[in-house]
Amino acid sequence: MKRVLVIGMARSGIAAARLLHEKGNFVILNDRKSEAELGSVLDGLRLENVEFRLGEDAQTLLDGVDLVVISPGVPIEHPAVAKAREMGIEVIGEVELAYRMSMGKVMAVTGTNGKTTTTTLLGEICKNAGKRTFVVGNIGAPYADIAAQTQADDMIVCELSSFQLESIAKFHPLISAILNITEDHMNRHKTMERYIELKARVFENQKDGDSVVLNYDDPTLRALAPKAMCRVVWFSRTQIPPFGAFVREETLYFGAPDSARAICGVSEVRIPGPHNLENALAAVACAMQAGIPVAVIRHTLRTFKGVEHRIETVCTRRGVTYINDSKATNPDSTVKAVETMNRPTVLLLGGSEKHSDYSAMCEVIRNSRWIRDAIVYGDTGEAIAQALARAGYTNVHRPENDHDFASVVQLAASLAKPGENVLLSPACASFDMFSDFEHRGEAFMDLASALDD
Ligand code: ADP
Repeated sequence: MKRVLVIGMARSGIAAARLLHEKGNFVILNDRKSEAELGSVLDGLRLENVEFRLGEDAQTLLDGVDLVVISPGVPIEHPAVAKAREMGIEVIGEVELAYRMSMGKVMAVTGTNGKTTTTTLLGEICKNAGKRTFVVGNIGAPYADIAAQTQADDMIVCELSSFQLESIAKFHPLISAILNITEDHMNRHKTMERYIELKARVFENQKDGDSVVLNYDDPTLRALAPKAMCRVVWFSRTQIPPFGAFVREETLYFGAPDSARAICGVSEVRIPGPHNLENALAAVACAMQAGIPVAVIRHTLRTFKGVEHRIETVCTRRGVTYINDSKATNPDSTVKAVETMNRPTVLLLGGSEKHSDYSAMCEVIRNSRWIRDAIVYGDTGEAIAQALARAGYTNVHRPENDHDFASVVQLAASLAKPGENVLLSPACASFDMFSDFEHRGEAFMDLASALDD
């Protein structure tokens, strides 16, 4: 029986501990939080061969340990990781553990933006092709939770964050994809070079017979391609790459330019906006490499509605369409939503403070044909109002109580006319008024749905 120390008792750590226990290991659970702080999440782990060492310093728990498993929330620079390695103890993340303890064909999706949308779409394509499919990883369903049930013919579609890639070792997907790389998470990774290096780890174990799908329009990914030891398959919204998924005459194609197969028309792709066309192209490239029939891919692109809280149409009230993009928690994702609009729109902006720079976003808002009015609210309302003013955008409104979300939605309803949109794409996190972005999105959906028709 091996002794395994699991550090970090959030969702992935708990799943890793359960899997390890099920496979006959002695499991030591550690978190800097105490047992009382962690509460009921530990209930399923009060078992024989499971030891709770909570609120203790993990460095003191390494004696006699054969393996350390860390949650994605635990950085690789954690002192216990360094000490374990000095002692010759292997340290891996939850994704690596689940990979080692499972079967099936793995497709892995990473990137700065669009991961969840692309992973979900790819999962739907696999399911529609009649394959038993598990959609796991950063998406909120730990890989370790399903590892024990997997079989050789299953498809495992795995969303990976840079945090998860930090602690892989032998993880080896058949097909991987990097959607884009823009600046993010500098608080954890410090430099852009390190962040790019981590994203590139998704294909480090791939070789002949495997494929990596990369964005031809992203200069960082173009520069990364020579590092791949497997086939590089491109996707591009604006150019025709040597081999991959691309757009020609308003149609999505896959293959080499002179022998490419038509997949479907651009207007048939149900998820809206140019950024989602990129996500769709990436999914097409992965699915085609996996040998999924074109008819299944086309059908899925026509029917897949996208993921909740991401430019999601909620309802129509008095001819006004309400759109929930609560997941837009940074200015760049709001820019994508603004670029997706094609009729007059009242935009709701604001939330908790991350000290973001709003100037580029405000330029896009000022230059957009469609953002007729902006409502600012929440902790960042004032900063956004000032940035909009500096950009020369003047149609800015603020409710009397700018921390009362009901009056924000009421004000939007009073400004929007039939045939227009109200778009919640706040460019900020939600913690000033809500527990998370899902809670904010649900509040918006409830308030919009309750308006008179
Ligand atoms: P992630 O899982 O990488 O955070 P999501 O699919 O959840 O990505 O989308 C997060 C936000 O980013 C949403 O507001 C969405 O509209 C926007 N977005 C989605 N795909 C892209 C893309 N390819 N490029 C830029 N922004 C995107």
